This record gives sequence, C-alpha cells and structure tokens, in this order.
Amino acid sequence: MKIAILREQAAGERRVAGTPETVRKFAALGAEIAVEAGAGEGAAIADAAYAEAGAIVSDRTATLAGADIVLGVQAPAADTLTGAAPGAWVAAVFNSFGDRARVDGYAAAGLEALAMELMPRITRAQSMDVLSSQSNLSGYKAVLDAAAEYGRAFPMMMTAAGTISAARVFVMGVGVAGLQAIATARRLGAQVSATDVRSATREQILSLGAKPIFVEKVAGIEGEGSGGYATEMTPEYQAAQAELVSGHLAKQDIVITTALIPGRAAPRLISDAQLATMRPGSVVVDLAVEAGGNVEGSVVGDVVERHGVRIVGHRNVPSRVAADASALFARNLYNFLSAFWDKDAGRPVLDAEIGDAIRLTKGGQIVHAKLH
Ligand code: NAD
Repeated sequence: MKIAILREQAAGERRVAGTPETVRKFAALGAEIAVEAGAGEGAAIADAAYAEAGAIVSDRTATLAGADIVLGVQAPAADTLTGAAPGAWVAAVFNSFGDRARVDGYAAAGLEALAMELMPRITRAQSMDVLSSQSNLSGYKAVLDAAAEYGRAFPMMMTAAGTISAARVFVMGVGVAGLQAIATARRLGAQVSATDVRSATREQILSLGAKPIFVEKVAGIEGEGSGGYATEMTPEYQAAQAELVSGHLAKQDIVITTALIPGRAAPRLISDAQLATMRPGSVVVDLAVEAGGNVEGSVVGDVVERHGVRIVGHRNVPSRVAADASALFARNLYNFLSAFWDKDAGRPVLDAEIGDAIRLTKGGQIVHAKLH
C-alpha cells in the first residue's frame, strides 16, 4: 500500500495534504509513503522533515509510480496523475458540482475520486471534515486581515494621551468560520455582535460574549436545513433582516461576512447603498467572495474601496494560514483513512454511508448520485 503526497499545482495554494506527523501515523499502519519534493514548502515543512518521518521524497513521477492512494488539498487534474496504480484513490477537495470536466477526467482515467468536501455531517465524521477545519482558520484569519486593513486599534485603550474606544465588529453568518471570527475579535478586545438565519446560533453567540442581532418579528423560522446547513429564507424574512441589519451596519467599524447556502450562490447581505452608510475607514471582509460574495462590489483576490470602506476579498483564506491549515487538513485525511483501515487487507475499505457520500468516480464510471 503506497500513499503519495503531492505538491499542490493550483496557483497560490500553499497548503499540503500530508505532514511529517501524518506520515509517521500512516507508516505505523504499514503504509509506504512517498512525498513529492517541495510539497511542504508553502507550509514551512522541509523535505528533510518528511524523510525523517519515514517518507521517500522524490520527483512527481517517482512519487506517483504505483501509488494506491494519492492525497491532495485541491484535486489535481487526472492527466497529471499518470503512473498511479490502476483504480487508485485520490482524496482531495474536488469542487464536485462546479467542475464537471475534472470529474470526467477521473472517470476516464479509471481513478477513484473521493471528494472530501462531501463528507457527511455526522458525529463520527467530524474529525474527517475538512470544511470545518479550514473554515475555522478562515474565520480567525478574516479578523486578522480586517485588523491589518483597519487604521485603528481593536481594544479599548486608556492612555495618558486619552482613551481609544473599542472597535465594533459585526459577524454575519455564524457557522464554523463565524464562531471563530467572533472568538478572535473578542480576544483582540473588540465589541462584537453577530447574526445568522439559524436561530440555534443565538445561544452560541451569547456564549462567546457577543451580542445576537436577530429578526424577531417574523415567526416560525428556524432557518436550518439538513446537516445543520442554512436554508434559503422567505422574501418576508429577507426584508425584515435587511431593515434590521441596515440600522446596525451604519454603526460598525468591521464587518465579517461568512454566509453560505450549499449548492447555491452565496446570499447577498450587504448592498452598495448599505456600504455608503458606513463610516469611512471601516473594513468589510467577504469570506464568501469565491461563492459569489455576500457584499456588493467585493472582488475575488483583491482589496477594493467603496465609499471610503475597504472591502477585503482574499482568495483561499485557509492557505493564508498554510502551516496550521495543512496540519489540520492532513489530520482530517489521516482520521478518514485510518478509521476505515482493514488490517487484513492492509488498506482502507469504506462503508456505504461515507463511501457513497464522497465517491465521485469508480471503475471508469461517474458513480455519485448527485452527478447523474
Ligand atoms: P456554512 O459555511 O454553510 O454557512 C455559514 C453560515 O452562514 C451558517 O451558519 C449559515 O446559517 C449562515 N447563513 C446562511 N445564509 C445566511 C443569511 N442570509 N444571513 C445570515 N447568515 C446566513 O455553515 P458551516 O460553517 O459549515 O456550519 C453550519 C452548521 O453545521 C454549524 O452549526 C456547524 O456547527 C454544523 N456542522 C456540523 C458538523 C458535523 O456534525 N459533522 C460539521 C460541520 C459543521
């Protein structure tokens, strides 16, 4: 059983899907680990550290030769995986429903594509969930990115020259990223408020010492669909939310938006007219920018200014914290494969609940139910 850890090919991707820690753990299961030279560079992991952990570090061709399992962060194109064993598994993030050509390539190559972003949200899979681990770091980094763009301090400071008031931070969308954004902004001393469409988040916001901002008048809305994800809200709710948020936004210094709805474009939460009501020097970070954006005028991969407000739209935020993001991503992959490790077979054997949820291709066919 040979496991290959490749150097990421996507532009700007600094993460890596395996670390010396996971190399050691896979080796303890009896696997042989090959690492492409330079794979850990963006995450500050030297080739020597992989070698010391027991991996064979070599060029891409040798790394892939006969590999039974290939690990990646962003799935490589199938035609770059020549030499892997017939039917090899590739575990990575696939953008399964947005990049059909990539999935077709895997079917044509006879590879088994395992889309880590489709991991079901069930208790036993929590430790395998790359979306959660990476969102957590995104929420943290979004606050630091906002602080770096903001020309003022976050905490209240009493100095001999006078008092500086605390920054007001508003977090919109309180999933994994939003919760970490609240906690991080609180640690920096900001005054934090937050909103979500899922009423269950109210308690979570309060428990982190932030103020919940919720639509009260529209009754009977839980806003929660399957797997704890948000559902699309009624026009009545959306109008009430827009009104509530408008008044609140004008008083904020920093806004972090994280709202996503699976399978749809990100909901628009802040219009250009609302931006115009904010104070010059305020900062808005749109973590949903790559999914269409929560903020009107946000630009993927750029920081732009509208009405004196800076709108931050960094691409691939987890990669901006590459070392920790890699450590967690690599552990997610290890937790996944080791949970299914069959000692007699000397390789993992997936069960139907998780296998069917994440397997896109097998035996030359596209096999995922949602891809038919
Ligand atoms: P997400 O990334 O899909 O969305 C981010 C947040 O935006 C969500 O809280 C969502 O409700 C919110 N949102 C959507 N539309 C909005 C709108 N119009 N206005 C304001 N907010 C809006 O969500 P996520 O971070 O993946 O987490 C969603 C939930 O799933 C959380 O409760 C999380 O704890 C849970 N979860 C469970 C597991 C598991 O059990 N294995 C794993 C991960 C997450």
